[in-house]
Amino acid sequence: MTFPYLFSPIDINGMELKNRIVMTAMHLGYTPEGTVTDQLTSFYSLRAKGGVGLIIVGGCPIDEYGGMSSMICINDDRFIQGLTKLTDAVKKNGARIAAQLYQAGRYTHSAMIGGRKPFSASAVRSKFTGETPRALDLEEIPGVQDRFAEAALRAKKAGFDAVEILGSAGYLISQFLSPVTNLREDNYGGTLENRMRFGVEVARKVREAVGMDYPVIMRLAGNDFMEGGCTNREARMFAEALEKAGVDMFNITGGWHETRVPQLTMNVPRRAYVYLARGIKSVVSRPVLASNRINDPETAEEILRNGEADMVTMARGLLADPDLPRKAQDGMSGRIYHCIACNQGCFDQIFNLRPATCLVNPMAGREGGLTIEPASTVKKVLVIGGGVAGMKAAAVAAERGHKVSLMEKTDVLGGQVLLNRLIPGREELVTAADDLAGNIRALGVEIMLGKKADLPLVQSMKPDAVVLAAGARPILPEIPGVEQDQVVQAWDVLDGRSGVGRSVIVVGGNAVGLETAMYLAGIGTLSPEVLHFLAANRAESMETLMELLNKGSKEVTVVEMIKKAGKDIGLTTRWTIMAELRRLGVTIMTGTKAVRIKADGLEIEREDGPGFLNADSVVLAVGSRAENSLAKELEGLVPEFYVIGDAKEPRKALEAIREGFEVGLLL
Ligand code: SF4
Repeated sequence: MTFPYLFSPIDINGMELKNRIVMTAMHLGYTPEGTVTDQLTSFYSLRAKGGVGLIIVGGCPIDEYGGMSSMICINDDRFIQGLTKLTDAVKKNGARIAAQLYQAGRYTHSAMIGGRKPFSASAVRSKFTGETPRALDLEEIPGVQDRFAEAALRAKKAGFDAVEILGSAGYLISQFLSPVTNLREDNYGGTLENRMRFGVEVARKVREAVGMDYPVIMRLAGNDFMEGGCTNREARMFAEALEKAGVDMFNITGGWHETRVPQLTMNVPRRAYVYLARGIKSVVSRPVLASNRINDPETAEEILRNGEADMVTMARGLLADPDLPRKAQDGMSGRIYHCIACNQGCFDQIFNLRPATCLVNPMAGREGGLTIEPASTVKKVLVIGGGVAGMKAAAVAAERGHKVSLMEKTDVLGGQVLLNRLIPGREELVTAADDLAGNIRALGVEIMLGKKADLPLVQSMKPDAVVLAAGARPILPEIPGVEQDQVVQAWDVLDGRSGVGRSVIVVGGNAVGLETAMYLAGIGTLSPEVLHFLAANRAESMETLMELLNKGSKEVTVVEMIKKAGKDIGLTTRWTIMAELRRLGVTIMTGTKAVRIKADGLEIEREDGPGFLNADSVVLAVGSRAENSLAKELEGLVPEFYVIGDAKEPRKALEAIREGFEVGLLL
């Protein structure tokens, strides 16, 4: 497939972009002191080399009140030197670069700004930080706006091709715009016109500071998705006013950080929020960018071809694969490693104050220190196991020139990741396996499916190195009654090998248990196609449709021994899974021990005493153990031997792929 729309140039107020792909700003944690580091420069240089048109970096705090000192700071002239190094490097590698001007207002934690109270339009508590900011005094407002303008001028001096004013996601400018957070009674509060004033004046001041012929971008929430907040209607009016104030391009994203509508998780369908950009595009004459969950060139091309937006953004998409644009342009889109919106390597790390990496791209964040070099001696490498760890090891080894064979006992590549295929909203995980499978095929790895590795077979192949990545198998817990016919493993349910009755108890409230419950509770609910058909034809009332959407044909209860379910799910995803389970009516019983399985249910033990739960079936999801029985036999028999992924110790795909990558480099 070719991508004529995606790879057509565009001019933004004199800034010529070679294509329509924009890497939006994301916090990476590569600037602990706020100054540009080699790690940051190497990271963005590689993305520029990969063919992206425009890179927006940041957020770049415009002052010391609205952002962490570990972000890419632009609040003082002392940062200009480092920023210039960054802009030089990106431009040298063929991309344009913009700085995002960041002031978080009430999204700032006081601990991050030296214990001072953050400010906002009004003193409205933030669910995001749990703190209440102070309201800006009227006479303080021009000073804050001036700091946006000063930062913009600094960006221009540092060689940035453009600036982006951050007016989305619940940051300071949107706090002024929204009636939820703006309760002011002066000229900056009350009517929409007054609430828009702060942002419009910022745009005007930035324009005055940088001059007429310098691109100014505005990032806006297309809909706050906050009760009582701004919708696309208000966003459109704001965009119209901003265009008059001199904004050259609009970057349209979804809702606020506080919204309960998922924005960036795997259950958000690809291109879900493009309609918000389309809404803005209908009222402005300047180019509009569509954002959120656009992770492949095919979707991007379709959005542009349909005229829904003028450009698309991919931030995590390029964290996952810096070469995505180049691969698409060179007819190699089948080799792209897509972002799967897992957030495990990026946002979850950032929320834990660790630098960002990526589940599908373990190189992310290590660009300066690691390269995939050709091997000095070509080896015959045998990988045992076709899950993501094994495939990553095979891919890197093959890229380095080794002669690689991969043996998988089942008839399909992907391993445990494939269990997500049936779970609504988790299907994108399978993309990670499909991408690896596509790459190892293209790299010429010999793939042997349906072949179980044993000692004689391995010895007969005479490999120089063996990588054991045979995964894990589910644990059979020692609960009396576990051997009965109505007791099945979660893996077998998700694999389609075992069915269950109408009422089901899932034993184990870890990720696998909760996701299995989600799958089971979703059985019998309306599919997207049927919902669309019934809604479009007004066949049922909205009330009936919601009922059919939320209520499936099974009663599902999860029993978890510890006090918290889903402890092994990342912070940014867990709440979406818990919300889905609530919506589907799944009962979650924490602090509950499974004592004995009977023909008609489960005996339990809780703090308040014993109990009994009726059920037709019991599904076991109590964890897994490493499948490494071959390790003892192989150790010492082959010149090089490695055990990786779940075969070493069951963990997440993030660790499995990283270990595959690292072993691939070692071979
Ligand atoms: Fe995407 Fe997951 Fe990588 Fe983040 S860690 S960029 S969400 S694949």
